[in-house]
Amino acid sequence: MGIIIDGKKISEEIKNNLRKKILSIKKDKMKPGLAVLIVGDDPASKIYVKAKKKSCEYIGINSFEFNLSKEISEEKILEIIDKLNTDEKVDGILVQLPLPKHINQETVINRIIPNKDVDCFTKVNIGNLFYGFDGLKPCTPNGCIQLLKRYNIEISGKFCVIVGRSNIVGKPLSIMLTKNDATVCLVHSKTLNLKEICKTADILISAVGKRNMITADMVKQGSVVIDVGINRDEDGYVTGDVDYKNVEKIAGYITPVPGGIGPMTIAMLMENTVYSYLNKK
Ligand code: NDP
Repeated sequence: MGIIIDGKKISEEIKNNLRKKILSIKKDKMKPGLAVLIVGDDPASKIYVKAKKKSCEYIGINSFEFNLSKEISEEKILEIIDKLNTDEKVDGILVQLPLPKHINQETVINRIIPNKDVDCFTKVNIGNLFYGFDGLKPCTPNGCIQLLKRYNIEISGKFCVIVGRSNIVGKPLSIMLTKNDATVCLVHSKTLNLKEICKTADILISAVGKRNMITADMVKQGSVVIDVGINRDEDGYVTGDVDYKNVEKIAGYITPVPGGIGPMTIAMLMENTVYSYLNKK
């Protein structure tokens, strides 16, 4: 049986530390602020936004929620972002994705000034990450790295396979693991011999969005398995990409879903917001 990597517990420790930091700030000083823009009424987005708001309340971050109609124009969203960019009460701006089709996601995201881009999605911040500069880090990839570090799992020299090459998970995670001296292999839907490649991984990370994508025959005995995927089974329960019941018997370490990367992503968002606040000029 593999050791379960408890993302919920670690995320709570991180949030407690942030809360202590905020509590130590002088009473007359403005608290950090996070603005969240949500366009339309996608139920999953609403759940994520609610969880983010709850974490803000716990830590002592002011949260400003903008519930916008799905018919809103791109110009209007850009106008709101422009105002938030110069608002002193706001340290982080987050646009909940996905956006309706008539809105250009890239234009909207890149309108956020880099030091308030707490999701770390803008071209500038991704560029900084690429060059290895200090600064905001993408939340889900950073959540993966932090879990490995907190469980004292060696990254340096390890062979890491990431399944999924999206701009928000797979690609930035490949950069971060490389910075930590891992040898990284990024695989995707066009990869040949996917199963064989996964089986050679010391650290296997799945970010696909398909239930039971990673089966026990794709996992090396004693390896570390990180499940980023969020899916629902036929009864509506949240599951990851990994066939947890069978993979758990082979893996050395494994993250559960729920309770693995999900809460860590939120903790990293909180950390980024506090970082922006503390580094405010
Ligand atoms: P995307 O849909 O943007 O990317 C999915 C990736 O999986 C693509 O690179 C795609 O390949 C690859 N893929 C699809 N099918 C296969 C296959 N059969 N074999 C190999 N690769 C395949 O997803 P995201 O990165 O945005 O999210 C991935 C998952 O992670 C989702 O379940 C999402 O909900 C979850 N997620 C969880 C977060 C958390 O906080 N826990 C945060 C963010 C995401 P190709 O590029 O070739 O199409």
